[in-house]
Amino acid sequence: MTTLNDFSRCAAQYDPHALPVKAAQAIVRQWAAPVAAVERVALRDALDRVLAVDIVSPINVPSHDNSAMDGYAFRRAALAGDTATVELTIVGKALAGHPYEGGVEATQCVRVMTGACMPADCDTVVPQELVERNAECTSIRFAAHAVAPGANRRRAGEDLARGHVALRAGRVMRASDLGLLASLGIGEVNVRRRLRVAFFSTGDELRSLGEPLDPGSVYDSNRYTLFAMLRRLNVDTLDLGVVRDEPAALEAALRSAAASADVVLTSGGVSVGEADFTKQLLQTFGDVAFWSLAMRPGRPLAFGRVWSGERPGLGLPALFFGLPGNPVAVMVTFYQIVREALLLMSGATPQPLPVIRATSRQAIRKRAGRTEFQRGVADQSEQGEWHVTPTGSQSSGVLSSMSEANCFIVLDHEEGEIAEGQQVAIMPFDGLI
Ligand code: AMP
Ligand code: MG
Repeated sequence: MTTLNDFSRCAAQYDPHALPVKAAQAIVRQWAAPVAAVERVALRDALDRVLAVDIVSPINVPSHDNSAMDGYAFRRAALAGDTATVELTIVGKALAGHPYEGGVEATQCVRVMTGACMPADCDTVVPQELVERNAECTSIRFAAHAVAPGANRRRAGEDLARGHVALRAGRVMRASDLGLLASLGIGEVNVRRRLRVAFFSTGDELRSLGEPLDPGSVYDSNRYTLFAMLRRLNVDTLDLGVVRDEPAALEAALRSAAASADVVLTSGGVSVGEADFTKQLLQTFGDVAFWSLAMRPGRPLAFGRVWSGERPGLGLPALFFGLPGNPVAVMVTFYQIVREALLLMSGATPQPLPVIRATSRQAIRKRAGRTEFQRGVADQSEQGEWHVTPTGSQSSGVLSSMSEANCFIVLDHEEGEIAEGQQVAIMPFDGLI
């Protein structure tokens, strides 16, 4: 068995004491294998699920050439002469769902509504607001230059052509995709089974909601943050509660988590000093690399695999992320390191997150050699320019800084101090958080 330790040591830029974020992401990506199981669901249940196979369009959408406007369909030959005004006789009418079956001469036209099939021989539609009708409504006149030959005709297959891939496997299904599949007549799809993620918090100081808060203790907030972040990714969650800082309790919790989930997330107990037993424990029945990421917040992180059995390789496996305990660090490491792995394991093709440039309203202290994810409030001026202001305290324990913010200010590994007015990269929370 290739161990994670061997593997990550061979990775580019490997430095367990200051592993660059990009290097950590690359290692994690290699270990995130998609779940194999597929299930068939009704279209309405496919929202936010991951498509397991390519969907090939069985039909043309639209199925016929049709009118894009309310107006009059005619043959382009009518525009060919050198008259400034075109005059056509109305010979019939076509509504959406009610085609006109007759023929149409070059001097004739058919009244058409949006979506109506183009009558045979007709290839151009003049919108109704550009025509004048005679008193009896038997003919129309319009300026020849007002409409180009072929205008306002939607082509069969213009939206989706038969035999072409309409949606790719790995797609996380959105509202438009459900509509698109319905337009193809598809009412059920094959999706990957939902990923199962178990999580628990570690720490003797943690109290669950409903328990009294004795001196020195704090309420466990990470389980709620993790629950919500996981829900957003539409994975199944398994909350295993708070586990005391005790090797036996921790081992039992990790084994039972591995037995029932694809991924195990913990928070707390991975920083050096305090958690030496965590390290020893994981090294005896897991295959876990302890990293110090060149990142702030979120420096300590454990990543690897754990098994439900007594030794590595025995029993059921799960991917393991030991996140730091500080509440902001939990969120930052989740979004920067864990999220992509969960998407990949769900079978999804992750899309890069949008990053935009904004002008900083303040100087920002930053040291080169680590990536920082500060919390900021971004606003857009009427001219469309983005500005960003860091939220107050950037301490990794201050969760209110996340609540107040609407974006991460991403300060790259190489970047140093930021002056007021300098451009920075921001990652909006919308669509992420
Ligand atoms: P640790 O990584 O275990 O040393 O924890 C770092 C800090 O985060 C300590 O102040 C902990 O009390 C705090 N912390 C750890 N886990 C949680 C949690 N689940 N909820 C809130 N705070 C936590
Ligand atoms: Mg702790």
